[in-house]
Amino acid sequence: MSTFQAPKGTYDLTPPRSATFLAVREAISAPLRDSGYGYIETPGFENVELFARGVGESTDIVTKEMYTLTTKGGDQLALRPEGTASVLRAALEANLHKAGNLPVKLWYSGSYYRYERPQAGRYRHFSQVGAEAIGTEDPALDAELIILADQAYRSLGLRRFRILLNSLGDKECRPVYREALQTFLRDLDLDEETRRRIEINPLRVLDDKRADVQKQLTDAPKLRDYLCDACKAYHEEVRALLTAAGVAFEDDEKLVRGLDYYTRTTFEFVHDGLGSQSAVGGGGRYDGLSEMIGGPELPSVGWALGVDRTVLALEAESVELDLPATTSVYAVPLGEEARRVLFGVVTELRRAGIAADFAFGGRGLKGAMKSANRSGARYTLVAGERDLAEGVVQLKDMESGEQSAVPPAEAAAELAKRLG
Ligand code: ATP
Ligand code: MG
Repeated sequence: MSTFQAPKGTYDLTPPRSATFLAVREAISAPLRDSGYGYIETPGFENVELFARGVGESTDIVTKEMYTLTTKGGDQLALRPEGTASVLRAALEANLHKAGNLPVKLWYSGSYYRYERPQAGRYRHFSQVGAEAIGTEDPALDAELIILADQAYRSLGLRRFRILLNSLGDKECRPVYREALQTFLRDLDLDEETRRRIEINPLRVLDDKRADVQKQLTDAPKLRDYLCDACKAYHEEVRALLTAAGVAFEDDEKLVRGLDYYTRTTFEFVHDGLGSQSAVGGGGRYDGLSEMIGGPELPSVGWALGVDRTVLALEAESVELDLPATTSVYAVPLGEEARRVLFGVVTELRRAGIAADFAFGGRGLKGAMKSANRSGARYTLVAGERDLAEGVVQLKDMESGEQSAVPPAEAAAELAKRLG
């Protein structure tokens, strides 16, 4: 092989498709930024123990999917497989929760790594935008996050997504349910691995995708019947707030996150155009996580939306994002003196905040005009020897085709005026 290729399960973002990724990150984070969420950035790796505790020893993420490494200094690290544990760790470390301003609302955007079997919509390196609201138990906060994700997807033009909603109970009622479920599951005809899961993480068994397992689960005890009054009231309030906001959702009692610190509200965004990798995002309340990683009691809620799958969802719905051209003015010099003059104008435009580009490499008029067209620039500046002898450059409006001559010293100001 003569050239390198991107590692298995990864892909590069290159223009023009990369612009869509940027726009998706922007669209997902915009509603958060407008709602009091501050930006947080954490390292791409953490001590492996943080994820073992903060994601859970019994999850696929920790047991199968984590990229772990030992540094030359002997530290055990892991490439981050998800964002919540790191963000909470960072918030605790910076004492954000002690600033007397709860909830601490944070948003993030970045790369995540999971050693998975690569397939459409499932990669080993992927990108998420996430939000966490730390330190407050309030159904309006759960509703806020779901409403903001809904708003983000809608602002992108997505329509074929659905919101699945459930409540997992709390530390009062869930243990009772867990035991009832275990008793039920132990009598079923299941393989060894699933039997082990009954003991460690029984709620996850409900999530099993296999038809022969699902068939046996029809009469499984339902969490809904075990919710305590406080959890019921909380969940009803979340539902009422979503309904009042006009956000449609489906109650899905099979939706589980089987870890002890996930509590009450849990939700997932699914898209119907993505085949089996249908989850575009998910989240929920994690009232016990802070204590799991050594912090105080800090009831919190959050979500993470997958950028890669959101882009696939846009493509599945044939949504074309309205991406403005990145270049407003394109300069085409013909000859040495014109190069110097137009390069000067381009620099002046850029300093004035006008996006401008230049035909580099001394190309001929035809090729350079092709580049000008491709750039999407509204205006071109063309100058040859004769123009300069007359003390002008040619300013062409690429939309109307109209052309006018302006002195080089006035070109930037004239363009600034026309571009508003
Ligand atoms: P799945 O059930 O598809 O494995 P998950 O429950 O592991 O998803 P989360 O950990 O909740 O996913 O992550 C939130 C979002 O991140 C997902 O809804 C998805 O859009 C995205 N995501 C997760 N894993 C991958 C991956 N391997 N490749 C691409 N996107 C991913
Ligand atoms: Mg997964």
